[in-house]
Amino acid sequence: MDAKIIIIGAGVVGLAIAAQLAKNQKSIIVLERHDNFGKDQSSRNSEVIHAGMYYPTHTLKAKLCVEGNQMLYNWCNRYRIGFENCEKLIVATSPEEKDNLYAIFVQGKLNGLKSLELISESTIRLIEPNIYGVEAILSKSTGIINSHEYMQSLENYALNHQAIISYNSEVVGVEKINGGYEILFSNNSEIYRVSSEIVINCAGLYADRIASMLGIDIVENKYEISFARGHYFRLSGKYRNFTTRLIYPIPEKNLSGIGIHITKDLNGYMKLGPDVEYLKNKIENYTIPKNRVDLFYKSANKYIPNLKKSDLSPDQSGIRAKLQKAGEAFRDFVIQNEDKLGFNGFINLIGIESPGLTSSLAIAKYVEKIITNL
Ligand SMILES: Cc1cc2nc3c(=O)[nH]c(=O)nc-3n(C[C@H](O)[C@H](O)[C@H](O)COP(=O)(O)OP(=O)(O)OC[C@H]3O[C@@H](n4cnc5c(N)ncnc54)[C@H](O)[C@@H]3O)c2cc1C
Repeated sequence: MDAKIIIIGAGVVGLAIAAQLAKNQKSIIVLERHDNFGKDQSSRNSEVIHAGMYYPTHTLKAKLCVEGNQMLYNWCNRYRIGFENCEKLIVATSPEEKDNLYAIFVQGKLNGLKSLELISESTIRLIEPNIYGVEAILSKSTGIINSHEYMQSLENYALNHQAIISYNSEVVGVEKINGGYEILFSNNSEIYRVSSEIVINCAGLYADRIASMLGIDIVENKYEISFARGHYFRLSGKYRNFTTRLIYPIPEKNLSGIGIHITKDLNGYMKLGPDVEYLKNKIENYTIPKNRVDLFYKSANKYIPNLKKSDLSPDQSGIRAKLQKAGEAFRDFVIQNEDKLGFNGFINLIGIESPGLTSSLAIAKYVEKIITNL
């Protein structure tokens, strides 16, 4: 075998796994189609360190988000990554929304979050004078992170522990061979073959495609990924430091997204987003439709009373790798060894959408455990 472990994809999850495994395992190769890390989902997100109150208890999303939150803060402190534990409010803007607010609060408590508090209208006004709400959840463990610095630190860590990261290397075929797998990848118009005992599929938007290259039936196994684009609109410079905390509305039904919220970067510039638009074709298209501004204005105006539409301008967009199709119920992360399908040592990570950034270090530990038990 050319390597013990091949990781497909150098997004935040592939990098976190490479860093975690490189501590104890030698002979790790990461194959990434782009010329650098994190160019897909991992650089087109809100950069929020989530607390983990939205997801059903005992799901991987709940468990790995709650664990990953603390691990991420520790990593940021240790490797001097830019972050701010800025906290967040989820605001009910009418009495009718209060039941949904309490349901999130209870779910958060069931998920083991100690740092959630319900706060009244007057407390909202006191701590966030620019925000309107009749009651809110204060989440003290929510924060923001410089995700590029974080990924750079993971790459450095993996490289310093002898992992190899091969950029411009697009996986085009996967075959089972005796004792492992053979991977075909294209680099500079040439096709190369590399073999390993273990393969970890962290290909984000294309993780289903990688699984089907091996012969896994992605329809039968419910591994088909939908592309759900989220757009962001920047708030004009006068809104700099408009709030101290991130401000979230009550989320949409079935958790397609957690609602158009106010997020900010580490310099205090504010953004609204992301919404959810399922793309009909699975083609990467990051356009922001012009008429989207109306939806953003309408949503945010509920909790920012004096907002003007002219304060909003298009920013970036990102595409989520969603297992949950439009209108469907909650789907969890898929992270498993595919021994039951006849592919022992092939570990699929499919549907790693939000809170994948927050969960990345916990996902890496989880995958390490799977490998230890192979
Ligand atoms: C709009 C939006 C907002 C989000 N907000 C947050 C947030 O605030 N907090 C949070 O915790 N999470 C958030 N997320 C989720 C988070 O960004 C993802 O869960 C995380 O980035 C997933 O990382 P990944 O490494 O699995 O996937 P990706 O970052 O998509 O990386 C996959 C990699 O695989 C590579 N690849 C694909 N196919 C091949 C191939 N054939 N050969 C070689 N390489 C290949 C790709 O080039 C890519 O680099 C958000 C996501 C989106 C889209």
